[in-house]
Amino acid sequence: MNPNKYDPVEGRSVQIDEVDWVEFPGPLSQGGIRWKLLNVAPELGSWAAIYDCPKGSSFASHVHVGPGEYFLTKGHMEVRGGEGEGGVSVKAPAYGYEACEAFHGMTNFLEDSEFYMTFLGPLNFVDEEGNTIALVTWKTVQEAWDAAQQAKEG
Ligand code: ZN
Repeated sequence: MNPNKYDPVEGRSVQIDEVDWVEFPGPLSQGGIRWKLLNVAPELGSWAAIYDCPKGSSFASHVHVGPGEYFLTKGHMEVRGGEGEGGVSVKAPAYGYEACEAFHGMTNFLEDSEFYMTFLGPLNFVDEEGNTIALVTWKTVQEAWDAAQQAKEG
């Protein structure tokens, strides 16, 4: 048995301004969204990131397999289609909790926006029939981030 199994996880801190923005993968967003990965916690299946979303940008349709919490630090964001379609429209500063299995048909940014989010469990990006396009886990996120860092250095 691993004697370290129940040791507390070492903490982590990030000076956000010291990390460069990276373009968010194209098929999963539109309009030039950029992001910074802040942490992954494999033992929880969670990750935390901050997103820079220009006016008019959006995320592709996805299901939050696990819950998530966000803090909109800047701008104006429509979640779950916005108020016109039964979702919400939030202006910074705003906090939100999205439940397990929350379906985000479209997440739109009506102004230049920025938000932090913690994801507990994968994001399932889906097409119009609900078929999986990409299942994004903490590991996928870490690998995408590492690839972006290598591309920058290369
Ligand atoms: Zn979402």
